[in-house]
Amino acid sequence: TAQEIDRLEKLQVLGHGNGGTVYKVRHKTTQAIYALKVVHGDSDATVRRQIFREMDILRRTDSPFVVRCHGIFEKPAGDIAILMEYMDSGTLDTLLKNNATFSEPTLAKIALQVLNGLNYLHAHKIVHRDIKPSNLLVNQKMEVKISDFGVSKIMCRTLDPCNSYVGTCAYMSPERFDPDTYGVNYNGYAGDIWSLGLTLLELYMGHFPFLPAGQRPDWATLMCAICFGEPPSSPEEASEEFRSFVECCLQKESSKRWTVSELLLHPFVSMGRRSEE
Ligand code: ATP
Ligand code: MG
Repeated sequence: TAQEIDRLEKLQVLGHGNGGTVYKVRHKTTQAIYALKVVHGDSDATVRRQIFREMDILRRTDSPFVVRCHGIFEKPAGDIAILMEYMDSGTLDTLLKNNATFSEPTLAKIALQVLNGLNYLHAHKIVHRDIKPSNLLVNQKMEVKISDFGVSKIMCRTLDPCNSYVGTCAYMSPERFDPDTYGVNYNGYAGDIWSLGLTLLELYMGHFPFLPAGQRPDWATLMCAICFGEPPSSPEEASEEFRSFVECCLQKESSKRWTVSELLLHPFVSMGRRSEE
């Protein structure tokens, strides 16, 4: 309710998204800690569209692998606030930037959790479209949850090809750059799998796989590499299971890419399940 939001005390800024700010907040009565994403009413149309999309999807989702939403507040002035569960270790991108290294058993656990999340989303006809390290939230328990539904899409029978250039281009699958395939027989779900493969490889290598370590992305070169180059492959020293998993995700041809249900049966993911027991 509207009064409830007044019971929230802002503790610190956790991050800025495009158009919004995420705060760490404490509920004055219960002392519970949450994350609160605030978007101002005077923000531009794109930002507002994204926040409405995010609200719409968070309202529909209820999974341990998707960041939980505890409430949505809309003020008369048009301000919107989304109360979410607080993930105390930030994002996989923060960990990466703090030079965390990810062992294969850890990566297997991450893969399993993201796949569980995508399995839930895809079963609910939701395509995330922006899977990348900075949209995967982590907590102390090393639970990984999918967040940031600003550019996600709820699939229906009619596809709208004009809506194609959304998300972070660097993690976009080759077919999303191709106007001929996009929209016709387009399987949006496969795009999330590409992004997952790229994300895991980045966590393994410590830098974005299409670029040498330390190099800033130049958009044109990157797009050429994604569309016309070979997909990146894992370093030689990686296990057979990891290399194979990444290869199944990073098939350029979207029809050859494995689906979530297939990947959940992959030997690399079984490693993640074993270490969970
Ligand atoms: P974009 O994906 O377009 O770059 P963004 O990721 O910056 O946008 P958000 O996903 O809304 O925008 O979040 C901004 C930052 O706030 C995140 O990167 C993360 O560090 C932090 N954050 C968001 N949600 C939570 C949460 N539930 N718990 C803890 N931190 C969060
Ligand atoms: Mg984000």
